[in-house]
Amino acid sequence: MSFSSLGLHPDLLAILDKVGYQAPTPIQRAAIPEVLAGHDVMAGAQTGTGKTAAFALPLIQRQLVRVVAENAIRVLVLTPTRELAQQVHQSFVKYSEGLAIKAVVAYGGASINPQLEALNQGCDVLVATPGRLLELAIKELIDLSTLETLVLDEADRMLDMGFIIDINRILKRLPNTRQTLFFSATFNDDVFALSKTMLKQPKLLEV
Ligand code: AMP
Repeated sequence: MSFSSLGLHPDLLAILDKVGYQAPTPIQRAAIPEVLAGHDVMAGAQTGTGKTAAFALPLIQRQLVRVVAENAIRVLVLTPTRELAQQVHQSFVKYSEGLAIKAVVAYGGASINPQLEALNQGCDVLVATPGRLLELAIKELIDLSTLETLVLDEADRMLDMGFIIDINRILKRLPNTRQTLFFSATFNDDVFALSKTMLKQPKLLEV
């Protein structure tokens, strides 16, 4: 199976060619068409399976087809750690090279000012850790009312690290009509309970 048969845009196919990916991984095959179609997704995927591209590629594509470029946050990716936030941000930058899409990263334990400067230069995709995201939202430094898609990456680690209260506070601030993509390496009762509060008729992807 090829990336083109998953419905990806020629611009993205050209980028994938440059990056050197020849064929989609199983999670990419399963997730890309569902995300493109706008469905909620609940996916079991370990690190190293290509899960970042599984959500980044279709989300970039959904921004590409927008007729009028606007300066508004459409995609929010929450990650448990600063390192993962940086990696996911780098992936969005890599997969949207040369395209009119701006990805910004924000995490705690670092000065907020450079992050704000980046945000003020335009942001379509915000990758953030929960605490810093809440800080930005509570201080009304970001507008989340235009959000179309929320990605929760490594949900099990989020819960292990005690982020449940922050996540619930963030969810209250997001539009109800959004698409939600829920990724977790493992599933236990707590992970299922969280997924239930976030997802609407999700497509279950186990690869
Ligand atoms: P991830 O699971 O998202 O952390 O990705 C793991 C690694 O796989 C990253 O270094 C990606 O660059 C790489 N990768 C993702 N998708 C593909 C693909 N379709 N073909 C080859 N490498 C890939």
